[in-house]
Amino acid sequence: MKSFDYAQLNDRFEKASSQDIVRWAVEELSPLCMSTSFGAESAVLLHLVTQIKPDIPVLFTNTGFHFKETLEHRDKLVARLNLNLRELKPEMPNAEFLAKNGKLYERDPDACCAVNKIAPFEKGLKDYEGWITGIRRGQAQTRQAAQFVEPYRSRMTKVNPLLLWNGKMFWDYAKQYDLPYHPLWEKGYLSIGCSPENCTRPVSAGEDARAGRWSGQNKVECGIHTFLKNEAQEPHASK
Ligand code: SF4
Repeated sequence: MKSFDYAQLNDRFEKASSQDIVRWAVEELSPLCMSTSFGAESAVLLHLVTQIKPDIPVLFTNTGFHFKETLEHRDKLVARLNLNLRELKPEMPNAEFLAKNGKLYERDPDACCAVNKIAPFEKGLKDYEGWITGIRRGQAQTRQAAQFVEPYRSRMTKVNPLLLWNGKMFWDYAKQYDLPYHPLWEKGYLSIGCSPENCTRPVSAGEDARAGRWSGQNKVECGIHTFLKNEAQEPHASK
């Protein structure tokens, strides 16, 4: 793993544009990928990054539980931006998983995310030295400690160029480039994951964007984006 002075870089990136942060990642990290959920705000990062590196591998974990609207949005964006999509899937096909485990997402969403989301994603991520994500601090309390660049699993660097963006900035950017938006956005889904009701619900005015994820349960993150002692943590999926 290439070593960086992350503190110094994060100071520098406080005043840099998102495009400059992406350019730094393209110059310094190889091979480099980005990830997307094809959720409510995904079009912006996909557009911004592919303007700089058009052939960047785009990792998408298809858990088998997505909304049909998300898969339609994926297809639209792949065609519009000519994305180099790398779709990652759980080892067990969705129908077999449901037959064996029933609604595990209701009984134990951590276990369900570990098998269907984190395991295939971590496997796909192993091929890369750098990873660009679309997380931002304003999405949830759990994301307040995120940095522009940070080590991940002691083996790669994670880059968060949209860290300081707010909802208006997304909207303005999407409008400027006439980007398609997720059809569930209009129905109040500001953060869109899997379709079971206990995994994603619309949010009300005043709630943070991720309040609709695993609502009423002690869970806000699937486990891919962890922010405390990130570099020391092992993948949840390996538990
Ligand atoms: S978000 Fe829900 S359905 Fe998707 S992997 Fe996690 S618990 Fe399972």
